[in-house]
Amino acid sequence: MPPADKTCASCGRRIEWRKKWERNWDDVTYCSDACRRRKVSAVDRELESGIRNLLAARPATSTICPSDVVRAMTGDEDEWRALMEPVRRAARRLVAAGEVEITQGGRVVDPSTAKGPIRIRRRRP
Ligand SMILES: [Zn+2]
Repeated sequence: MPPADKTCASCGRRIEWRKKWERNWDDVTYCSDACRRRKVSAVDRELESGIRNLLAARPATSTICPSDVVRAMTGDEDEWRALMEPVRRAARRLVAAGEVEITQGGRVVDPSTAKGPIRIRRRRP
């Protein structure tokens, strides 16, 4: 049986084991060269905190939109747009960390494959 999947440390998507990683699977941290270059920046960490803070300020059952997180961080339109994908990456990392869930239409979805608008909520027991 192949080893269990991992989560990319940068984008939070699932990394499935591949034969080419047979020898160094333990060292595999990123899903792609792009993610390896990107890593996790200070802004990425700020977005994670932004998600945590916003969720903490709401009732446990409520969901937030990624744009709410970005809007709380910047009023600048261009910056706002530039942070929309990074905030989704941050949400996926928090799913991997067991802190939050990503939903679509009220159902928990797989963060690796979810397309389109998502919402974020605290992980339910
Ligand atoms: Zn990645």
